[in-house]
Amino acid sequence: MFDLLPNRNNVDAVFRPRIGQIILSLFVIVGIALFAYFSFTSHSAQREIREDLYAQETDASALSFTQRDAFGLAFSMAEWGSGLQDSREVQIARALLGQRLGVITSSGEPTINAAPESFRSALQDLDEIIVALTDVPVERRLTIIRDVDPVVETFLTETRLLSQAFQERSRAVIEEAVQSRNQAELRLIVTFGLVGAALLILVTWIAIDIDRGYRRASEMIDSQRAELKSTIATLQRTQEVDVMASKLIQQISDGVAVDQVLGEVGTAFAGILPGVRVDVELNGPQRGSVHVVANSDSTLSEEELNTSVSRIRDVVSVALNREIAEQELKFQRTHDALTGLPNRSVLTEETRRALLASERTGGVAAIFLMDIDRFRDFNNSLGHSVGDILLIELADRLRSTVTGSEVAARLSGDEYAVVAHFRDRDEAVSRARQIFDELHFTSLAGATETNVSVSMGVAISATDHPGAAGLQRSSAMAIYLAKEADRSGFVVFSESEHSALSDRLSEELAARNALRNGEFTLFYQPIMRLENNRPVGVEALLRWDRPGIGVLCPDAFLETTRRAGILVELSEEIIEEALSFWSRNLVKAFDLGQDGMPYVSINIDPVQLDDPLFATFIVGAARRNSVPLAAIVLEVTEHVLSESPMAVEQLDALRRQGVRIALDDFGTGYSALSQAQHLPLDILKVDRSFIPIDELAGRDRRLVSDIHAIAATLGLSTTVEGVESREVAATLRSLGVEFAQGYLYSEPLPEDECINWIHQWTSLANAEGSN
Ligand code: C2E
Ligand code: CA
Ligand code: CA
Repeated sequence: MFDLLPNRNNVDAVFRPRIGQIILSLFVIVGIALFAYFSFTSHSAQREIREDLYAQETDASALSFTQRDAFGLAFSMAEWGSGLQDSREVQIARALLGQRLGVITSSGEPTINAAPESFRSALQDLDEIIVALTDVPVERRLTIIRDVDPVVETFLTETRLLSQAFQERSRAVIEEAVQSRNQAELRLIVTFGLVGAALLILVTWIAIDIDRGYRRASEMIDSQRAELKSTIATLQRTQEVDVMASKLIQQISDGVAVDQVLGEVGTAFAGILPGVRVDVELNGPQRGSVHVVANSDSTLSEEELNTSVSRIRDVVSVALNREIAEQELKFQRTHDALTGLPNRSVLTEETRRALLASERTGGVAAIFLMDIDRFRDFNNSLGHSVGDILLIELADRLRSTVTGSEVAARLSGDEYAVVAHFRDRDEAVSRARQIFDELHFTSLAGATETNVSVSMGVAISATDHPGAAGLQRSSAMAIYLAKEADRSGFVVFSESEHSALSDRLSEELAARNALRNGEFTLFYQPIMRLENNRPVGVEALLRWDRPGIGVLCPDAFLETTRRAGILVELSEEIIEEALSFWSRNLVKAFDLGQDGMPYVSINIDPVQLDDPLFATFIVGAARRNSVPLAAIVLEVTEHVLSESPMAVEQLDALRRQGVRIALDDFGTGYSALSQAQHLPLDILKVDRSFIPIDELAGRDRRLVSDIHAIAATLGLSTTVEGVESREVAATLRSLGVEFAQGYLYSEPLPEDECINWIHQWTSLANAEGSN
């Protein structure tokens, strides 16, 4: 996101030589070499000059010797004139001079060459005289001398002039030397000056370059430092933004109101991001949209701003999702999942509201309670999914029917309601009629057309209304009456009818509520094999755990559930529950080594067998709960078998698939055991009214013995109920009765206690058996 590492290419070396500088330094090096060379050559030139000068000195000495010998010759000539010397001596003096002139000087040449031309011609002139010189008498010699005197004089003059010639020659040499020395020095000075200047330029140039480079480098370091600082600040802010975001998200998940959190978002993030304004739309269709505006003086990079904005959006979207989830949850809590209509809690709320309105503004509050006629039959014959479609169809009709302040709700199963506030009683009743008529329709949900109708109970608030719950109760009573055969299906609740219905109605209502609230449970009582004194199965016995009253036995409420029309529904729940108990717990609790698979024995009410789909239901329930049909015993009464051919048919079909049928309460009705022969039976249950508590003897003993004997001839096994003592059990065993059930072994128990009992009994029996 941020470039933390400075780019290497940005860092220039403080100094990097230029081509010009390299050339200049080469020039300096060459200059220094030249300087060295020049100073060396000038030194050797000086030495040469010095040697030249020394040579000049040798020439000078040669000259002075030449002068001496030249003067010696002239003197010899004069002596000859005076007769003091002869001509031979003059010639010797000349030979000496000649010898001298032939001497090679240090300058490498004979001395004669160093003499000027005038000297040489004077010597030549003299030589002509000397050659002619003879030893004539003295007097004659004087005249000769006189004659040649000018020549001698010239020679002498030239000889004297010799030193001047040498002086001139020497001066020229010195001048030349001085000149060449000056030249060499000039060359040295120029070279030195040029090299010095070049060096100066080079040094200055490099110095300037170094200075510039240094300045640039330090500027770069400064800017990088500043960049780093701003990067660190950005990182810190990014972190703060993250921390803030997770803090807000935490608040949301802690359940702080979404509006409050959204309201805080703006200030929370603006506090972190300098020069930035953050606004979150709270209302309208734009709710939750985030506007971020950076001031012109804001130092935030676009990248950082974008990152921050996306974090803010994250928080907002978490908040909005939370809000949606809350709304969905609220909808789920207050609405029925199948039809989407409001549920009972909404109805109660709306009832309160309508009552409040009637108090404030006059008028009445009314509840129209509806329930689909014969919905159970419809459901059973066409299947639950088709039943669901019908429920949805009705809900849709209701939804499109209600207007204004009317609120429709689905309360449970096929129970619907409308609540509203009306001007007066008449308006409420006529509106109820309208809706009632609207809900008679033809449905195509099933394979064929079905005429759907509803029953409706209308309750209207009076001046001293008994509250929302009271009004609901009244509507429930009204619909109850509406369902009675002689009614049209539409009843408006009235106080007089209410008192007549009194307790019966409210009991039936309570039973309906109990079914809805899951207050019914099953207890289980073990059934024993007398031969080995071990459990072989359990009987499922219904209980009503009634709030505020306690656990009730079936005799106290079974009739009520039948009258309330919920017995079939309840019985189906019982079958599912008992079979589920078998596969969940029972089969595991049994010691399978002894008696094989345990069975669960279920009491079947005559009304259940009126349903032609009863057998199908049992098979389906067994499959749903993975219970083999051979593990199911259905207990029915004689009465059913003698009066309903369809019941016999269905039981026969079940029996062929492995279900066993027990004849319950044998002996209480008009017993015709002979008939049992033609009935689909496996077990005979001798009613507990035949069995005394302490002892089975005399007439009772004979009766049981006879029943058992006949049962045996019919191929039935016998179960004796109500066994409370060891004595009775012992007698039954001696009579060969197979099974027994009673308080001696166990009372009916809640499922977990029953399982415990089986474990205990089995381990105890095992311990005894091994002794
Ligand atoms: P039942 O089928 O004859 O059930 C046996 C009754 O005898 C049970 O009463 C049981 O608690 C009781 N009992 C068991 N052992 C003894 C004993 O040693 N001594 C005495 N004095 N009584 C004993 P419960 O549970 O009150 O059931 C009463 C009746 O209610 C049952 O009689 C049955 O006809 C009916 N019932 C129970 N559960 C259901 C059910 O799920 N569906 C239907 N349709 N009817 C049921
Ligand atoms: Ca029974
Ligand atoms: Ca019984």
